[in-house]
Amino acid sequence: MPTRASAAEGPIVEVRRSRKRRRTVSAYREDDRVVVMIPARLSAKEEREWVSKMLERLERSERRRRPDDAGLKRRAADLSNRYLGGLARPATVRWVDNQNSRWGSCTPADRTIRISTRLQGMPAWVIDYVLVHELAHLIESGHTAAFWGWVDRYPKAERAKGFLEGVACATQLGLQGQPEDCSEEGAAAMLASAPADDSDPVTSA
Ligand SMILES: [Zn+2]
Repeated sequence: MPTRASAAEGPIVEVRRSRKRRRTVSAYREDDRVVVMIPARLSAKEEREWVSKMLERLERSERRRRPDDAGLKRRAADLSNRYLGGLARPATVRWVDNQNSRWGSCTPADRTIRISTRLQGMPAWVIDYVLVHELAHLIESGHTAAFWGWVDRYPKAERAKGFLEGVACATQLGLQGQPEDCSEEGAAAMLASAPADDSDPVTSA
């Protein structure tokens, strides 16, 4: 039986105990609540500890998935320093909701970068890929070999390209996605006791 607990200001939390689960704890949003899956053997005290820990992680992960314009600009500066030798220096980086066929765009002449709001709710490493891609256009405007040389310095470039191709394909096929964050991936990212993995936006934060 799921148990319900509601924190003072936090979301409604539904804890689901699973006998199949041995070590992993995960959390994701479902409708108006947060579901936390835990192994059946955990004590009530362990349950409380895990629930607060997972809510904190979920919130942190969601902030990374939906940064505001200022956060987006900070992320771009950080990515430029980390992967592009700090050579890409955008004047502005902001969200736009009028790009339906592109994930992002860059105007090298005035060094402005626009990122599609369709990316909001996608994993942070996918948003970072689009930022790196647009930033690299400030160094190389065309899709030249030199351009891809810069982009490929971002370790998850290939994976992110595949992810976005999958999203585009699913959209074309009319597959209905989650209205909120892509929750299965989110749940996977929340696996608490899984071995540290650099693809995990939570543990690598
Ligand atoms: Zn491009």
